Amino acid sequence: MIKSKIWLSSPHMGGSELSYIHDAFDSNWIAPFGANITEFEHVLEKYLSNDVFVTTLSSATAAIHLGLILLDVKAGDLVICQSFTFSASANPILYQGAKPIFVDSELETWNLCPIALENAIIDTIHKGQIPKAIITVHLYGVPYKIDEIRAVADKYNIPILEDSAEALGSSYKGQKCGTFGDISVFSFNGNKIITTSGGGAIITSSHQQKKKIQFLASQAKDEAPHYQHSELGYNYQMSNICAGIGRGQMKVLDEHVALRRAMHDFYVSLFKNIPGITVFSTVNPDYFTNYWLTSILVNPNETKNGINRETIRLTLLDSDIECRPLWKPMHLQPLYENYPFYGGEIAETLFKNGLSLPSGSNLTDSDRNRISTVLLKLLC
Ligand SMILES: *Cc1c(COP(=O)(O)O)cnc(C)c1O
Repeated sequence: MIKSKIWLSSPHMGGSELSYIHDAFDSNWIAPFGANITEFEHVLEKYLSNDVFVTTLSSATAAIHLGLILLDVKAGDLVICQSFTFSASANPILYQGAKPIFVDSELETWNLCPIALENAIIDTIHKGQIPKAIITVHLYGVPYKIDEIRAVADKYNIPILEDSAEALGSSYKGQKCGTFGDISVFSFNGNKIITTSGGGAIITSSHQQKKKIQFLASQAKDEAPHYQHSELGYNYQMSNICAGIGRGQMKVLDEHVALRRAMHDFYVSLFKNIPGITVFSTVNPDYFTNYWLTSILVNPNETKNGINRETIRLTLLDSDIECRPLWKPMHLQPLYENYPFYGGEIAETLFKNGLSLPSGSNLTDSDRNRISTVLLKLLC
C-alpha cells in the first residue's frame, strides 16, 4: 500500500464551512463584503473577549503592514523586530521604507529577549533616533515574556505590534494572545491553527482605528460620488467566501487547540527516554500554549551515534514525513544581514539544532505510529 505524505500542519475542516460558503452564494455576496465577514469578525471579538475590534484582511502580512501604517511608521523610521521569526513579521517594515533592528531571543519562550530589547533601544536612542515600534512574536504559539516586554516598551513609550499569527488559542495569565499589542494580528493561512485558505486579521482597541483599517484596506476612497483619493490605499480585504470558512473553523478552534496539545504530549512521551532530544515545552503555568507546531532540540553530543538535526530531518523526509528546521533568524538572512542586530547566539543556535515535527490537529493514530516507528528506529 502506498502511504500518503504526513504534513507538518495541514488544513483541517470542521464540517460547517461549506454551509457558510453556500450562504454567500445564495445571497450573491461573492465579494469582499457580506454577512460572513461581519460574523467572523464578531465571533473573533467574542472569542478574544477583551473589548477589541477585529478587522479581517487578506493575510497577516497585510495586517502587519497596515498596523505599521497605523503606528505612523514611515520611510527612514526604525522598527525593532524579533529576529527569530518568519520573514512576514519583518517584511512590512521594508514595505514602508523603514529600517528593521533585529533582537535575539531568550531560551524560556524562544521569543524576544527583554534584556537584548532594552539594549537595542538604549543604543538606538544613543545614536539619535527613537524606535517607532516593536514587533513581538509568539513563535510556534508560545507566548513571549508579556510582562517583561511590556515593561520595557512602556518605559521608552514605544508601541508594540503583536504578531500573533501562530498563537490563536494561546493565552498568558488567562488573557488571550492577540490582545497584548497596541495592535495585534492573526493569520488564517492554510498551515495555521485555523485557516480561511488564506487570510488574516488585525486587532485594534478602538472603533476609530477599525474604520481607518477598513478605509486603507479598500483603496482609501474618500467620501465622494466619484472615486476620490487623498491617501495611499491598498487592496487588503478578506473575501466573504474565505470568511465563511473562518466562521466554520471558529466552531472547532478549541478542539483543534486540544488536538495540537495532544500531539505535543505524544512527542513528550515519545522522547522521554531518548537522550539528546528535548521537546520544547512551556512549564510556567502562566503560559497556555496552543502548540501550533511541536519542535525539538537535538544535542548530537548526547544522541545515539552523535545523530544530529539534519540526519533526523532527512530520515523523516525519506519516509514521506514532512518536518522543518526552525525559522532561520532574520539577521542571518541575505535580505537582512546588513541591518543591526542585538543579542548573542540564541536564535542562531536554535536554528542550528531545532526541528519542527508534524503537529496538525488532523493526524491519526496510524500517522503517529509511522512517526514513532521511524524516530525510534533511528534514535534507539
Ligand atoms: C504565517 C505567519 C505570518 C504571515 O501570515 P500570512 O497570513 O501568511 O501573511 C506572519 N508572522 C508569522 C510569525 C507567521 O507564522
